[in-house]
Amino acid sequence: MKIMAFIAMLAWVCGLAAPVMALDERDDPVWQNKTYVLLYNPSGAPATIRDSDILDAMIAASEAWAPCGVKIEFAGYTKLGLEHDGKNVIGWVPALPGALAHTETRQFRRILTDADIALSASGIRSREWLMAALVHEVGHGIGLVQHSPSRDSILFDDSVSVGTVRPSADDLARCRARYRFR
Ligand SMILES: [Zn+2]
Repeated sequence: MKIMAFIAMLAWVCGLAAPVMALDERDDPVWQNKTYVLLYNPSGAPATIRDSDILDAMIAASEAWAPCGVKIEFAGYTKLGLEHDGKNVIGWVPALPGALAHTETRQFRRILTDADIALSASGIRSREWLMAALVHEVGHGIGLVQHSPSRDSILFDDSVSVGTVRPSADDLARCRARYRFR
């Protein structure tokens, strides 16, 4: 019973559409300068999550996606909210029904203009979940907007409950294919 509740709670890392079996990513967006700059708004963070946990999660996400050739940069703290303002913000919301986190990307044609990451204060209970969820969400934030059907993918819809903490070889190949432009 307890296990069932645990699985149900972790059904989704984020609330995007159901996985697409054959990904067609030709029109999915990218950052034009291959750099995703993120600010952090600590307002509403759960007591179990320290500022250093966020910094460690940012480093994990940066290292995880570096082999793709995309830079993930931490640009400090902010009071900005999760709005379409051209500033990419990691922030807390009280809850996300059925999800631990959610990334909202905006784009102009194929170029990303804003990608905010909402974290669920009631869903993310530990530093480990935060780290795994942020590597997943940053994947969405760099333009891998679709979930992967592969269970070993960091972009599998419930990668956190599977225990995946870094991109698979396929994830990195998928990312490199998107960022192969000069
Ligand atoms: Zn997701």
